Amino acid sequence: MREKTLLPLAIIGLLLLWLATLGLWAVDAQTVDDTYAPAAGNSQNAIEWKLVTTWPKGLPGLGSAPENFARRVGEMSNGRLTVRVYGAGEVVPPFEVFDAVSQGVAEMGHGASYYWKGKIPAAVFYTAVPFGMTAQEMNGWLHYGGGLALWRELYAPFGVRPFAGGSTGVQMAGWFNRELKSAEDLNGLKMRIPGLAGEVFAASGGTAVRLAGGEIYTSMQTGVIDAVEWVGPYNDRTLGLMEVAEYYYYPGWHEPGAMLEFTVNQKAFDRLPSDLKAIVEGAARATNQDMLDEFTARNNESLTTLLTEHSTKLRPLPDDVLDVLHSNSVIALEQLKADDPMATKISASYETFLDGVRTYHEISERAYLNARDRVLPPISFIDQ
Ligand code: CA
Repeated sequence: MREKTLLPLAIIGLLLLWLATLGLWAVDAQTVDDTYAPAAGNSQNAIEWKLVTTWPKGLPGLGSAPENFARRVGEMSNGRLTVRVYGAGEVVPPFEVFDAVSQGVAEMGHGASYYWKGKIPAAVFYTAVPFGMTAQEMNGWLHYGGGLALWRELYAPFGVRPFAGGSTGVQMAGWFNRELKSAEDLNGLKMRIPGLAGEVFAASGGTAVRLAGGEIYTSMQTGVIDAVEWVGPYNDRTLGLMEVAEYYYYPGWHEPGAMLEFTVNQKAFDRLPSDLKAIVEGAARATNQDMLDEFTARNNESLTTLLTEHSTKLRPLPDDVLDVLHSNSVIALEQLKADDPMATKISASYETFLDGVRTYHEISERAYLNARDRVLPPISFIDQ
């Protein structure tokens, strides 16, 4: 009788012990999975991409975008996709980034589309159009106004898939080694100014020179060029441009919302599983917004440093200079459209969007800034 009672109890006890062991093992396995996820190098499924840039390695601002992108992709994919960033010249020279991505030398690139205008004239729309859209407007056009679809159509023949890669906001007109009193002072000026704006500058009496970021300082210092546009206070200070020119002009008529680009080799992108594709897309989108946030936060602090600790003289471009630059911008845009069917197609979309967004921004952005200026203390700049 006693044995008959004990046997089932022993069986139940053993069962409970077995279940408890299973449970503990399961908890333990869960902990191990969370804590010791396979690192990229240990996993057979890990993918490693090269990302080549047009910027010097480690350049703050523009150069931190690809680094941030790479970090985000690594974290979001838990190491399944790692992106290794190479600065200008490490794998390919800065102006060969697009070809490197197109040919699969690198899976990704980071730079500015207008560097490729010799090969793809309509690419200029995706960095900046003189007197065109601001950063906020560009982002709206790209992601909700059809701009990105047209960009992908433009790069498709090269096997390259573009993503917005960060915006600097409104740039500065640039650094000049002499004062501009009128439009006539543009005559004979040699300026580093890329894209459509370079053509506009040349038509306005100057000479446009194309130089990568790493070549600018020395070219100004040695007098190869008289003027340079780069970005704005934050990034210009990191290149040391206040040491090679005295006059700092605004506003950035030529790059009102300069957009950078991530380029991805289409075949490499197609090979990714759908979750990694979404991670690349999401990390690019986050990095795009993040750059604008960083420039918004840092520009004024850098401007203050330039004006207080250096001999920088801040100047507005005279109205007649802006007028000449604008009339030549209209001519340059018309010429671009006449020469290139894709430029005509993209320009139609760009201009329609700009017309619409200007209307609402008249009663939102501009009206609000005006209203704010009416009630807040006047803005004063340090005497220079
Ligand atoms: Ca620029």
